[in-house]
Amino acid sequence: MSHDVYNWQLNRKMAFPYPEKRPGKQAAWVFDTNKCIACQTCTIACKNAWTSGKGQEYMWWNNVETKPWGFYPLGWDVRLLEKLGPQEWTGDKYEGKTIFEKAGHGEKIEGFLPAEEDFQHPNIGEDEISGQIEKGHYIKIPHQQWMFYLARICNHCTYPACLAACPRKSVYKRDDGTVLIDQKRCKGYRECVRGCPYKKSMFRIHTDKSEKCIACYPAAEEGEQTQCVQNCIGKIRMFGYKSRWDRPIATNPIDYLVHIKKIALPLYPQFGTEPNVYYIPPINVPEVFNRQLFGPGAKKAVELYRNAVQDKSLIGLLMLFGCTNRIVHSFEVQGDIEDGHCVGRDESGKEIVKVPLKEPIVIREKHDQERDVHRISVS
Ligand code: SF4
Ligand code: SF4
Repeated sequence: MSHDVYNWQLNRKMAFPYPEKRPGKQAAWVFDTNKCIACQTCTIACKNAWTSGKGQEYMWWNNVETKPWGFYPLGWDVRLLEKLGPQEWTGDKYEGKTIFEKAGHGEKIEGFLPAEEDFQHPNIGEDEISGQIEKGHYIKIPHQQWMFYLARICNHCTYPACLAACPRKSVYKRDDGTVLIDQKRCKGYRECVRGCPYKKSMFRIHTDKSEKCIACYPAAEEGEQTQCVQNCIGKIRMFGYKSRWDRPIATNPIDYLVHIKKIALPLYPQFGTEPNVYYIPPINVPEVFNRQLFGPGAKKAVELYRNAVQDKSLIGLLMLFGCTNRIVHSFEVQGDIEDGHCVGRDESGKEIVKVPLKEPIVIREKHDQERDVHRISVS
């Protein structure tokens, strides 16, 4: 049986096996793709925290792949896009079919089960650019070839395909929006692995059960951001709680970036799961590619990012990324771009972080008088 549910990312109702039920708050992340350096610190931080056991060797709940050629598991997105076939957006409304609507007779979801070896090459395509540079060509600006780093975790979707697919009802969504697999109920049928369009539910052969990102819920319950956020070297990530799409709160950082400014966009919204990891799209990538990955709002988001320096609230929030391990529930910008600050507050309204809107530039003297040494630049 199928129900009509509203998906704000598609701007229409869609078919889903369960009735619409939104959690009180939704765990959500914003990733700024423009700042990621693919150092994989997030990947290792997550692995050390959650997947260092037997049977978890190829289980990377967090991975960072180089687009367009990186995939973990192999071809996860292009294989599904091929199955869905060409689909259309009209303005900001998705007219095509989601993975739930495209499912064949007797199926709930259009998906596929990757082979075990598809998970064995998490670094495939790393640092490869979109095409070849012809011999004799020199670098021109803008670059003819491009690539960017796409950091990925489970999206803790509003309409989780893993949950919809599970015949044992082992997958559930908590009231903070986190999607979890009940390890006692799971029998390892791998329907969640087949159904998840992002391939973020993974099978653990050692226990014969499926596992996935748990949004570091023990930390989040104590007001801490997730491991991948706390450890991010590039300060590209922010974790928090999102309100409903039709009731955004302007002082909530995630609401502001996703619903008010619309600079942070879901990954492959056309799949239909309403994912809750939101990306600021890369500014160096062709518009059509960004549009396929992040939907019709990608062009506007790139323009906003390019002009962020003139926007106090936006630049203030971007400066807050990676500056505290605590979850920022509200923010406030004080003063002007030149000398102002952005303040982040916890759930009780207490100030937990304060950053300048503009970082001061310090030019060091060639001769350090205190230590009596000369600083030599070798660049
Ligand atoms: S990303 Fe996949 S595993 Fe995570 S909630 Fe969505 S469908 Fe489930
Ligand atoms: S730690 Fe941050 S900068 Fe490094 S790969 Fe992960 S997301 Fe990118």
